[in-house]
Amino acid sequence: MEQKTSAIVMKGKPVAEKLTERLRSEIEGLAAKTGRPPGLAVVLVGEDPASQVYVRIKERTAKKLGILTFDHRIPENLDQGDLLDLISRLNSDPAVDGILIQLPLPGHLNEQEALRAVALDKDVDVFHPENFGRMALKQGILRPCTPAGVIEMLKHYEIEIEGKSVALIGRSKIVGLPLSLLLLHENATITVCHSRTSDIGAVTREADIVVAALGRPKFLTADMVKEGAVVVDIGINRVDEKLVGDCDYDALVGKVSAITPVPGGVGPMTVAMLMANTVRAFRDHASG
Ligand code: NAP
Repeated sequence: MEQKTSAIVMKGKPVAEKLTERLRSEIEGLAAKTGRPPGLAVVLVGEDPASQVYVRIKERTAKKLGILTFDHRIPENLDQGDLLDLISRLNSDPAVDGILIQLPLPGHLNEQEALRAVALDKDVDVFHPENFGRMALKQGILRPCTPAGVIEMLKHYEIEIEGKSVALIGRSKIVGLPLSLLLLHENATITVCHSRTSDIGAVTREADIVVAALGRPKFLTADMVKEGAVVVDIGINRVDEKLVGDCDYDALVGKVSAITPVPGGVGPMTVAMLMANTVRAFRDHASG
């Protein structure tokens, strides 16, 4: 008789809650010592609806933890000089430990220049090239949020990473590329696929762990993974007003050993890791 696998559904919320619970007590201790709470400045330029939702979730989580938020919602027509002035003021504000610039910025602004203007010790998204380099060399104290969230999640669900073959689809600067480095630090063997990869299925079918981070709804189908593989779905796509991942969850769940849902998988981990970085920056500032 055919035996159906019962996959572990790797939900992000319980993992994120466990992490934020730890952060809450650390914040209390540090705040009592320093006489001030940690501060996170949130810069949102324009009216992008998805960005507004993300910013709301991040600010709500921060407040719940006792992190003071400094909300900078700025009209779309802001010019580059004004944005750089704001970042410079936040860099020198001692109440601000972390600066979050919600991406994407409107097209007329130079995103890379803005991200490079953020002080290294307040770069809680780890978007500054120098912090990226430190992370790549395992030297920084801040870890990129979504990639670090994926690692935490796999560890929480006791998925072995060391020695495993990982197929990662996507090589973006904020997700795929940094995640490939963190997985390498965990001693996995990584193959990174992208839009020019000739046969992605041939790569993913060989992998113990498949991570999809490409932004294409239901791209990863059941015939693209081996029986018992672990699947991590980072994609968030809006289809007919619903959020859909990069993986065909319903088809995969009967074949794999563990899988993240969308929504409710990696998303909450990204927010939790942003909080963790803000607390790391606070601790760093508190120690002088
Ligand atoms: P991105 O900057 O658009 O990068 C997409 C990557 O996927 C690129 O490397 C691209 O290849 C590759 N790609 C695109 N189409 C492909 C295809 N048909 N076949 C193979 N590779 C393909 O996107 P991102 O910022 O990395 O985000 C990826 C997804 O994750 C999105 O759905 C985004 O919303 C989601 N996301 C989720 C979270 C979370 O917290 N869960 C956080 C961030 C992002 P090339 O490099 O060759 O162009």
